[in-house]
Amino acid sequence: MTSFEELKIKPELARALKDEGIVEPTAIQYRTIPLVLAGKDLVGISETGSGKTACFGIPLLEKVQPKKGVQGLILAPTRELAIQISGELKKWSKYLNLKTAIVFGGVGIEPQIRAIAESEIVVGTPGRLLDHLNRRTLNLSKINYFVLDEADKMVEMGFIEDIERILSASPRNRQIILFGATISSEIDYLKKKYMHDVVVEETEVQVKKDLLKQYYYDVQTHEKFSLLVHLLKKEKTGRVIIFCSKRSTVELVNQNLREQGIKSEMIHGKMTQNKRMTVIERFNKGKIDYLVASAVASRGLDIKDVTHVFNYDLSQDPQEYIHRIGRTARAGESGKAITLLSSQDHDAFRAIFSRYDIGAEELPREDFPKLKFQTGMQSRNSRGFDRRRESRGSSRRGNGNSFGRRRY
Ligand code: ADP
Ligand code: MG
Repeated sequence: MTSFEELKIKPELARALKDEGIVEPTAIQYRTIPLVLAGKDLVGISETGSGKTACFGIPLLEKVQPKKGVQGLILAPTRELAIQISGELKKWSKYLNLKTAIVFGGVGIEPQIRAIAESEIVVGTPGRLLDHLNRRTLNLSKINYFVLDEADKMVEMGFIEDIERILSASPRNRQIILFGATISSEIDYLKKKYMHDVVVEETEVQVKKDLLKQYYYDVQTHEKFSLLVHLLKKEKTGRVIIFCSKRSTVELVNQNLREQGIKSEMIHGKMTQNKRMTVIERFNKGKIDYLVASAVASRGLDIKDVTHVFNYDLSQDPQEYIHRIGRTARAGESGKAITLLSSQDHDAFRAIFSRYDIGAEELPREDFPKLKFQTGMQSRNSRGFDRRRESRGSSRRGNGNSFGRRRY
C-alpha cells in the first residue's frame, strides 16, 4: 500500500489530505505525481472521478514558495470547475502558508485583482485570465507551472486560441501539465508546439464492476418516458442523473418529469455558467434528487453520491457511456446504470461492449402505465397515451438477455 507520505509529500500537506479522506493515491495520482514533482511536461489522461485535481494540485502545493508571486497557473474550462479546483487547493493548503486566487468572468474584477496580488496559485477560465493579462493585473513572468485541466473540454469549447495566447505570455521554461479524459488532435498539437520531452500517462477506464451494476431495458421510443417514470418510482433511488444526448431531449424530459410531479432540474451546455453552477450546487447539497443532463455539461464536475444513472438515450461515442456511468458507484458506494434501449440505440450500445470489457443485463419486462409526453409548443403528442389506459410495455425481445461479454 502506498501512501502520500511515501511520495515524499510535506507532512502539512499529507495531513490536510488525510483530513479530506485522501490517504492512498489513485492509479493516475501514483503514476503522475512523481513525474510532475520531477519537473516533467506531462499529459495525463484518465476518467472522470479518478482524482486528477490532486495530480497537479499536490505537486503545485508542494513546490510553490510563499509570498513569491504567482508561480502556478491552472486553466479550467468552466467557472464551476475553476471553483471546484480552487476549493480543493484551499482545503489541501490549510496547514501551509499558501493562497489560491480564482478568476472567472461574469463577476467584478476588482476583488480578483486583489486576490491575485496575494496568491501563489491562480485558477481561472481562459476568457477572464486573458482579460487580466490585457489589463496587466496578472503577471505571468514567474509562472513555473502551467496546468491545463480538462484540456479536451477547453478545446471542445473553442478556447484553443485563448489558451495559446496565455501560454505565449508565460515564460518559455515553465513546466506544462495537461490533464483530460480524452486526447484529441488539438491536444497533440499543443503537445508538439509547446511542450518538451513530454511524458504521457494514460490509465485504463476503470468501471468498478463489483459495485456498478449495468442494466438495460428494451423499449419502444414512444414508451421511453413512461418507462423512465415507472423505474424512477419503482427503484429505491437516492440521487439520480438522467442523461440525454441532445439538449432538446434534456429540456423535454425535464419538463415532462416535472409534469409528473417529479422535481427534477436540468443542466445543459446552452445554460449560462451561473445557472449550471447553481443547479450542480443544489444537487450536491441534496436539494434536488433528479438531474436531467447532457453529458458535455456535466463533464469534469464532481457530482457526489449518485445512486442511479439513467441513459435516456445513447451517444454515438462509446467512451461517453463510460463517462456517464462513471458518475455513480464512486468512493466505494454501489450504483446502478440503466439504459433505456430503443431500436436506434442498439448499434451504439453494441459498440460500447465490443470496445470495453463490461456487460449489461436486461431488466425483466413488466407492465407500466403509459404517460403523456409533451413534446413542446406544437403539440405533436398524438402518440401520447391516456394516463388511465394502462397497457403492457411492449418488447421485441425476451427476458434474460445481456449485452457485453457474453453476447458480443
Ligand atoms: P477528476 O478530476 O479525475 O474527475 P477529481 O479530482 O475531481 O477527479 O476527484 C474526484 C473525487 O475524488 C473528489 O471528491 C476528490 O476529493 C476525491 N479524491 C481524489 N483523490 C482521492 C484519493 N486518493 N482518495 C480518496 N478520494 C480522492
Ligand atoms: Mg477534474
